[in-house]
Amino acid sequence: MIEIRGLIKRFDGKAVTRNAVDGIDLTVPEGELVTLLGPSGCGKTTTLRLIAGLERPDAGEIRIGGKAVYSSDDNVYVSVHQRPIGVVFQSYAVWPHMTAVQNVMFPLRSGQKKLPVPEARRKAMEALDLVGLADLADRPAPALSGGQQQRISLARALTREPEVLLLDEPLSNLDKGLRDRVRDEIRAVQQRLGITTVFVTHDQDEALAVSDEVILMEFGRIVERGPAQQIYARPRSEFTARFMGISNSIPGTVTACDDDLVDITLPHGSLRCVAAGDLEEGSQVNVFIRPESLSLSRKDATGKGWKGTVEFSIYHGDCWDYHVRVGDTLLRSRIYKEKVGLSHGDPVFVSPDEETAIAIPADAAPGG
Ligand code: ATP
Repeated sequence: MIEIRGLIKRFDGKAVTRNAVDGIDLTVPEGELVTLLGPSGCGKTTTLRLIAGLERPDAGEIRIGGKAVYSSDDNVYVSVHQRPIGVVFQSYAVWPHMTAVQNVMFPLRSGQKKLPVPEARRKAMEALDLVGLADLADRPAPALSGGQQQRISLARALTREPEVLLLDEPLSNLDKGLRDRVRDEIRAVQQRLGITTVFVTHDQDEALAVSDEVILMEFGRIVERGPAQQIYARPRSEFTARFMGISNSIPGTVTACDDDLVDITLPHGSLRCVAAGDLEEGSQVNVFIRPESLSLSRKDATGKGWKGTVEFSIYHGDCWDYHVRVGDTLLRSRIYKEKVGLSHGDPVFVSPDEETAIAIPADAAPGG
């Protein structure tokens, strides 16, 4: 439904001119939701604005539903109003002097469409019904919560009957509880309508929750892409591993390979784990282990635990994070138990869950 080839966008700065979007190739199949995920300034919003036609690219090609909306080679540029898209921004852009339904009707009554009131209202009510707000149609916009106002923006985008929905950080102005609810609502509507969607976020949990595919970006380029489960459980680069919250990283050397499993010698022990990419005996790697995949015990029952000392602990309500020094490395272990009873200076044995640890080549380039 969306095909992007060699997309480039440059912003001229005073000191440096660099590509905010630096040669992106991307295909979004019909009916799927992909997220553009990455740290601040990596080019997510610019990519979305280029698809929308709110910015003009410097080079490349964008096709929506098989039709070119931009092509530098063929000199094609279709304006934002002519593209078959609906856009929802971070700021809800809801007009305060109108009711919910008037907000949704407004674009249908203005611009090229100019639908008669009864038809515009019928279409607006259908869209409000889709986002679960039909009951509040006649409520003034300022009397709606932030989450409800954002759903109005979504309803307004849907009245265009777009082929593609573009969502730019639609949840970031909402507080935590509301954010989860509106996120679920957006995913439910997207799946119900089967509408092709691009969703921009810098929040990895949000990306995992809603995506068919996650596109991870850095410096205007795509670093890694894949289904949410793959990006979470089998990152192929250190950037992805760290961005997806795998905070423990231990340098090691491969001593044996067996398909995608490898034996690794670490400064304070050894383990067998999954390899990301091609590794051979002698390869230098970093082993990434999620905090929840490191267990702690006072006794070394298996004889394979790593000897360490508790430095400090942090309480999160549903779990404890224990920071344990093992040799020169400070490891974080997340324990979901009410009382573990370890404190500063206590000796412990650390055992990794070998099934979830991943060895990534130490020199793995982004995209690995
Ligand atoms: P964030 O999560 O902070 O919104 P992002 O990944 O969406 O970041 P973009 O907003 O796409 O990043 O910005 C990419 C780069 O382009 C940044 O370095 C930004 O400063 C620059 N940039 C974006 N818009 C403009 C502009 N209108 N003029 C100049 N530079 C810009």
